[in-house]
Amino acid sequence: MKIHEFQAKEMMRNHGIQVPKGGPATSGEEAIEVAKRIGTGPWVIKAQVHAGGRGKAGGILKASSLDEVEEVSSRLLGARLATAQSGPQGHLVTKVLVEEAVQVEKELYAGVVVDRSEGRAVLLLSASGGVEIETLAKERPHEIVREFLEPWGELPSFRARRACFALGLDGEVRSQVERALRGLCSLFYQEDCTLAEINPLAITKEGAVLALDAKINLDDNALFRHPSWSQLRDPEEEDPLEVEARNCGLSYVKMDGIIGCMVNGAGLAMATMDVVLQLGARPANFLDVGGGAREEVVSKAFGILLKDPKVKVILVNIFGGITRGDVLARGIVDAASKLQVNVPIVVRLEGTNAQEGHRILEESGLQIHVAKSMVEAAKLASTLGRN
Ligand code: GDP
Ligand code: MN
Repeated sequence: MKIHEFQAKEMMRNHGIQVPKGGPATSGEEAIEVAKRIGTGPWVIKAQVHAGGRGKAGGILKASSLDEVEEVSSRLLGARLATAQSGPQGHLVTKVLVEEAVQVEKELYAGVVVDRSEGRAVLLLSASGGVEIETLAKERPHEIVREFLEPWGELPSFRARRACFALGLDGEVRSQVERALRGLCSLFYQEDCTLAEINPLAITKEGAVLALDAKINLDDNALFRHPSWSQLRDPEEEDPLEVEARNCGLSYVKMDGIIGCMVNGAGLAMATMDVVLQLGARPANFLDVGGGAREEVVSKAFGILLKDPKVKVILVNIFGGITRGDVLARGIVDAASKLQVNVPIVVRLEGTNAQEGHRILEESGLQIHVAKSMVEAAKLASTLGRN
């Protein structure tokens, strides 16, 4: 789950990281109020969208008078902002962050991510802030310093210090950067993040260390531990089908292909997508209906797949364990006869009560193609989808 910069900065502030004075606004007038509250200018007006690369796309603007604050904010609000990360359709700007402008001397990069190959969280620090970390990692990887966190989330002082020394930082600035790094690590663990990033972490002309940008992704699987997160959601930024799927308790991620996949189990869902891709076709989504899926779940899942206009064929891949093949088959037949299904359906069904399931599908009189294996099903689906 992504959150906005102003929300991420609030979290950072709560973890002892210094951020510029500022606040969100949804209109030009509100922006003026915020601007007055934080000082006499100049200010920076920042579009709040769930995508990075706003600076280059014109989503970060300066204002030196209150008139300009209003003018710039009104211009951003209601417009769509397309950045390198957002895709061409861009994001609708419904909020801006109004902040005091800071005189930057030097920009660092600091981020905490999960290093999956090591099975640990790792702090990344670089003296080349402001630029995209992906570019830096590719072109000049030696400029990124890495320090692992302890399994309980702590970044020991000596590692924080070692990272700072590697960047040539010293004195008061070094101790401030260290404090920010340790705050970032405690935030990463306590708030169950999958990413916590400050780019740039600015050193100002006065020698202060401030998080000028803040990006936090929260781990959806930890939602139950943080009831307050529901307030951080921005439905404006989410795909409506993903919202609907979540409300039905389905694990669904929309993608841009034509094969609507309905699979039980995350592993099998991933494998199905891999097979589809290897055959040169593209999945329209990831959808895990879960173990023990019942008829009504299948019906809801079908409904969601059919609402995606890109879907040209539905590929059902089920391995019955706890889920029984006959129950699944009845769910498919039920959904296909109730809903207006005008795309072909390919089903591969194995495991518990699979034969009974096949019989139900064949006797339904519906246009359902039953395949014997996952590869056969995927091949058939990609052929049918192209026609
Ligand atoms: P992003 O492009 O979406 O990553 O947005 P950022 O918040 O990182 O803003 C882009 C760039 O604007 C930053 O890398 C900074 O160089 C610059 N910037 C943002 N706020 C300030 C500020 O208060 N003062 C100065 N001088 N530059 C700023
Ligand atoms: Mn940034």
